[in-house]
Parts: sequence; C-alpha cells; structure tokens
Amino acid sequence: MSNPIQNLRKILHTEAERGFDNNGIIGGLDKMIPFWEPQARKAELNPALVDEVLAWLRRYPELDVVGRKQAMQDLAVRLEGEAPPEPPPAKAAAPPVRPQPKPARPPETSALARPEQSREKAPQAPAGVTPDSDITVVRGVGPKQAARLAKLGIHTLHDALTYFPYRHVDYSVLKPINRLTYGEEVTIVGTIHEVNTRRIKGGRSQLTQVIIGDGTGEIQCTWFNQPWIRERFKPGRQIQIAGKTDLYLGKLVFTSPDWEWIDVKALHTGRLVPIYRLTAGLTPKAMRSIMYHAVHFAAPQVGDPLPAELRERRGFPQLGEALIAAHFPDTQQDLTNAQRRLGFDELLFLQLGMQRQRAEWQAVPARPLAADDAWLAQAAGALPYELTGAQQRVLADVRADLARDVPMNRLIQGDVGSGKTVVAALALAIGVHNGAQGAFMAPTSILAEQHFQSVRGLLARIPDLDLGPGLAGVRLLQGSTPAAEREAIAAGLADGSVKILVGTHALIQESVQFSNLGVAVVDEQHRFGVEQRGALRGKGANPHLLVMTATPIPRSLALTVYGDLDVSLVDEMPPGRRPVDTRIIYPRERERAYQFLRRHVERGRQAFIVCPLVEESEAVEARAAVDEHARLSSAVFPDLRLQLLHGKMKPAEKEAVMEQFRAGEADMLVSTSVIEVGVDVPNATVMLVEGANRFGLAQLHQLRGRVGRGEHKSYCLLMAAAPENGSRMMADDEVDERLQAMAATTDGFVLAEKDLELRGPGEFLGTRQAGFSELRMARLTDLPLIDLARREAARIFETDPDLAEPDHALLAARVADFWQTGSGDVS
Ligand code: ADP
Ligand code: MG
Repeated sequence: MSNPIQNLRKILHTEAERGFDNNGIIGGLDKMIPFWEPQARKAELNPALVDEVLAWLRRYPELDVVGRKQAMQDLAVRLEGEAPPEPPPAKAAAPPVRPQPKPARPPETSALARPEQSREKAPQAPAGVTPDSDITVVRGVGPKQAARLAKLGIHTLHDALTYFPYRHVDYSVLKPINRLTYGEEVTIVGTIHEVNTRRIKGGRSQLTQVIIGDGTGEIQCTWFNQPWIRERFKPGRQIQIAGKTDLYLGKLVFTSPDWEWIDVKALHTGRLVPIYRLTAGLTPKAMRSIMYHAVHFAAPQVGDPLPAELRERRGFPQLGEALIAAHFPDTQQDLTNAQRRLGFDELLFLQLGMQRQRAEWQAVPARPLAADDAWLAQAAGALPYELTGAQQRVLADVRADLARDVPMNRLIQGDVGSGKTVVAALALAIGVHNGAQGAFMAPTSILAEQHFQSVRGLLARIPDLDLGPGLAGVRLLQGSTPAAEREAIAAGLADGSVKILVGTHALIQESVQFSNLGVAVVDEQHRFGVEQRGALRGKGANPHLLVMTATPIPRSLALTVYGDLDVSLVDEMPPGRRPVDTRIIYPRERERAYQFLRRHVERGRQAFIVCPLVEESEAVEARAAVDEHARLSSAVFPDLRLQLLHGKMKPAEKEAVMEQFRAGEADMLVSTSVIEVGVDVPNATVMLVEGANRFGLAQLHQLRGRVGRGEHKSYCLLMAAAPENGSRMMADDEVDERLQAMAATTDGFVLAEKDLELRGPGEFLGTRQAGFSELRMARLTDLPLIDLARREAARIFETDPDLAEPDHALLAARVADFWQTGSGDVS
C-alpha cells in the first residue's frame, strides 16, 4: 500500500494543500525523520537520495513560506528523477507530487501517514490494573526497581501519577549536526559510525566514545562506565541522541546524552522530555519508561473531581488528560494547561478546606471573654513599659475578638522583636480574668521556657489577677518535665488551679486535659503542622485562637497563605531600638571580628557566635559547633566564659545553657541556628554569623533579631565565607545581593520581598510552611489563579457547604484526602 517515496509524497501533498504551514505532519515535517529514515533504509532506496531527503526535511521547517514552496518544487524534481516518471506539477502552489501507483517494495505499516498516532499510541492498562495497583504491574519493575521507587515514595501507580517531573527539557527540536550550537538542548538523529572504548584514570574508569553522523556532519558522544554500550551500539544503526551540547577540545560533543533507537517510540528524545528526581540505581531512562507506562495505565482511570460545568466554564482540560500532559506533554501549551488545571485543583481543595474549617469553628459558639476599659487600662499600666501604638491596636483587635461568642481566629504578624509576646500575655490575662484557662504553645523548649518566664513576669504585675500562691497557676510543660510535675499539672488543670499552661508540643499530648480552656496561643505558627494546631484547639470547647508569626509574608502571598484568618500587624518597634548595625566581613578580618566581640564583653555585654549551617544533618552540624566551641574556648577566648548550644543537646541541657546565658553567667554563646527562633536576651549586643552566605535571607533576619533587643547599640557581623564543596553552591552575585540586602535594611518586609524575588515562592515558604507541602503544582505567585480558586470555592461552598451533592462526591473525597495528608490549615 505504501512505500517510503509514496509516504513522503503523501505528506508533501498534504503540506502543499495546507499552504506550506509545516504542519503536514503534526509538530513539523522534520518529525517524520525518525520514521521515514528507517523505512527508506530498509527499502534500500538510494542512500544519497535518502540523505538528501533527510537534509531537506531538517531544513524545511526553518524556511519561510516562499522558501518552502521553492524547496517543495526542488524536491519534487529530485524525486522525479528517482521514481518512475510522472507529469510535472502544474504550478507551484499545486500539489507538487502525486501518489506513486506501484510500490517498489512490499507495504510498510503506515507509520508515516499517521505519525502522531504512532508516537502517542498510549500503553493500555492490563486487565484488572487500577491506580491502586502496585507499581510492579509495570513491565520491567521487579523487586529491585520497586525498592528504588519506594525510596521516592512510589509504591502504587497512583503514587507515580502524582510524582511530577520537576522540569521538562525541550528535545522536540530536531537539528542537523552541522547546525548545532554550543550549550543547546537538542535531539539529533543519525547513524552510528564508530564505537571506541578506552580506560582512563589508571584503568579504573571506562570511556565509550561513539561517533554519530547524519549526512550533514559528525559528532562525538561519550559515556562513562557503560561498557554494554559497546555491545549494543553497532555501526550502521540509527539512533536518536538528546542532550546538551558541550565543548571538548574545541569541538561540539555530547556527554552522557539520552539516547534511543529510532524505531522505538520517541519517548526519551524528540519531544518535551520529563526530568524526574531520581535515586541511586535508577537511571533517567528507566524512570521515564516506568513513568510512561504507570501514567498511561493510571491516568485514564482517575475520576475527575471538578464538576463538569465548572471545568467547561473555565476551559480546563480533563483530569486524566492533564495528568498525562503534566508528565508527557505533546506541546508546551499542553504542559502549561495541565499545570494550570492541576494547580487550580490544589488551590481549590485548599480554599474549600479553609472555608469549611472556618465555618465549623464558627458554628459552635465560643465563650465570650470580656475585659472592660478600666480593667484593661490598669493591666496595661502595670507592665514594665508602655505599649507601642501598634501593640495597642493589635490588643484592641484581640480584645474585641475575645468579647464575642464567635471564636477568635486571628494571626498576629510582626517582625522579629516587635513585641508580640506581651500581646499574647494580655490575651491570656483577659482569659484568666474571666475564669478561663489559657494555653501558650511554642515550637522549641528554649522558647517555651522563655515565654514561661516572660508570661509569669508580666502577669505577676497585674494586681487583681489570681495566679495562685507563688504564681503556681502558671506552669511549664515540655517533653523533659518529670512525671511528678506532670501529675501535679494534670491535677491542677482538672481542678482549675492551673490557669495558664506554657509549653512545647507536649501541650497537645492526650494526657493533657484542660477543664476550661478559653484562649489558645500558638507562637511561630509556621513551625507547627495542621494536626498540632488542630489538637490544641481541640483541648477546649472551641477556644479563642491566636497565632503569631515573625515570618513576614509579602502581601502578594498573604492572601493564600493566611486564607481566611483575620490578620493584625505589629508594624512598629518598641521605642529606643536602634537598628542593628550590620556588616559584611571576610575571613581575613576574623581576628578583628574577635577583638570586636571581646571589647563588647569587656563592657559587660554578651555575644552570639553562630556556626555555619550544615545541610547534611543536625548531628554533623552539632559536631561542627562542638569543635568550634572547643577551638574558641582554648585558642581565642580562653579567659572568657563560653557556652555551647546545638540541636543535639537534651532539652534540659539547652534550657540550662540558655538560663545561664540569660542570667549573664556566660559571655558568649557558640551556637548552631537553634537560636534562630525567638530567643530574647537584651544584654546580648553582638552576633557573629559564620558562613553567613549559607543561610537564607529570612533565616539571617531571624538570627539578627536575637540582638538589638535592649538599650545598647547592637551589631551583626556576617562572615561571607566562600561556599565550600558539598554545600549548596550559589553564584557570587547572589551571595552579595543577599548579604548586602541584610546590611542595607532591618525591615523584615523589605527583606521578605527580596527573598521572594531571589528564591521564588516554593523555596521562600519552604516545606516548613504547613499547608504548602501539598501544593505540588500551584504556584503561589499566580495570583489570578489563586483568586479564581477562591471565587470558585466560595461559589461551591455557598450552595453545597458539605459537598453533599452527588456531583460533588469526588470533590468531597479529594478535599478530605488533601487535608488528611496534612496541609491546608495555616491557622
Ligand atoms: P517578638 O515579637 O519577636 O516575639 P518579643 O515579644 O520577644 O518580640 O519582644 C522583644 C523585646 O521587646 C522583649 O525584650 C520585650 O520585653 C521588649 N518589648 C516588647 N514591647 C515593648 C515595649 N512596648 N516597650 C519596650 N520594650 C518592649
Ligand atoms: Mg516571639
């Protein structure tokens, strides 16, 4: 029925009919090369002709319409010479070639006529295979591969489906070798000319060099330690190579490119190729092939949770299509559409969950906790300092919330050192004043201990607040609290004599039972997971909830991040604060930096020395801190009192160290980044951050917030050490830009905007930001999409808040899933 020449003519015919738009074959005429060339070789056509046609096909897409018309005529003439004579084409725009009546060879399968189908003929799920099936149903996945995939969290087909590539490389550009340029990611198609293997590095490594030619030129490809390549790469075979061109001895080469025989479906090359995160032993090729099958098996079977009406109204692709395209898109547009659709889903689930949660909290009335003006003025007047305007405003918000029978759900956002704690303490005091209990949860034991001290100190001053004899009504609970104290606390919570419980995660253990919890405060809320905050809320009958954060979220993100929380800003620093004087220093200035620290200590101040961030593990980081402490104690400051603090110490040890430092019994604290959060020692006025460029901007800002908390002028020295091997490498200008931003401003919002600009929202929020680890596709900078999701969620919620309608059954299940896996709740 068809032979290579005939097939070629058909395509050319279509192309001419379409007006030379290079779409006679979907994706461009050059896409037929991988199919046509083997056909032509197999049919033993004149090799010179084949090479000419191939070169022609590669060139064609680059021509303009006039050029294409001309090229078409030229080729038609050329083909005339090869094939049985035919009448010449009448005029340029007319079909230049006609089907050839008599095939010269037995018919081929018509790959060329319908190339899009041949390429995209999707694997079908074997009978009985569902998305929940084990990944081993994919051919080629045995116990070994399965174990590797398990390391990536892929156990079932469905797991694979949501294991999205972190990027795609556009290998859909096929190029002739003579047109390659340095550093581009391309696919070439050619013939293996030569295969050489040699040993290098004293014979321990093996290098395979393969020369590939395509009629326009030759290029060398190199693979390391893959001896089998030599066995399989036989000169004369057709191959596709995809990769980034490199330079070696002045010539373009490919180093360890992806490759594929061209008679195989163009899966790894010649298209938008997905790039997955891998694990040892799993090659990109194997992974892609597994994913290709897993995705095609599972995607068509996944039910679409979006109501059809909504999907159509917004022009989103179906879920199955979107899932396939998110992995193996045909075009960039398909990929974009798929990502948008999947991102929308996530944002919709997030918003629906938030709206439901809010409705649930508000459905059960809270106990109103009122404080009249006189009482509040008296309480505030008893504090050791006057509240700033910002603190007064936020306190007014909180007080109004507490007085209502709708539970408070408020976030206090305020820069490091802005004085959020005292607002929380007053909220707790209003609770106690009304006979309700309060809980104050902090992410670390150091912080919990510190809050315990501050809350006791502040509330003790309020005259008519009954906190029991010896302030025994305020207690501290953490992991290290001894059993006897735990029992005493439990008894006190039950009989109401414990009025305020400050602590760590220990607060939400099952054994902790409040009899009358009215106010729950969560500090540094972004450090907690959903369940933890939910659990604290669950310790009372719908208590008022106050969450606090020092992570300044740029306004562009606040909408999503905080959902429907009420937000109050403490946007003013306590008086008398002088901005921390921040300087970038270099290793050669280390001695002078030490002298600087020493002078502060001699004047009675204290200093922090922060050790570099070590990403491998907390243990390695702790050891580095131990070594640094030892070195500084013996060689640099033998006459001073140095303390050590790191994450591997027991909570009780950490507290003891902090207590001594706070009490002024140590001059310097050598520490890892564990002091990043909240530590408040006003007498500490200088901080030296080693390896400052390893920290993120937000982290540096938090660290720096540990100084400048008292009346004395404070300094922060950022040691810009060169990044070492093994650490996260970053460009010099990025380092400079970040440290310079630190030196230039102490405004957390300005720094947050800068951080967002430098790192993008994913990195910026990090996985620590609860609720956003499940956002795999949604981009938090895509404000229009976020807004769309909010509007659609509100629309759904309005008519069917419980998602009880049959049309919403799948949606309800997905929302439940999404929130189950631990996200969404940012309150
Ligand atoms: P953060 O908002 O970072 O949690 P803190 O609540 O720890 O800040 O307050 C930082 C420091 O400022 C503390 O030492 C606190 O006693 C002090 N402080 C808070 N409010 C005031 C104020 N209005 N006037 C003076 N000092 C204040
Ligand atoms: Mg704080």
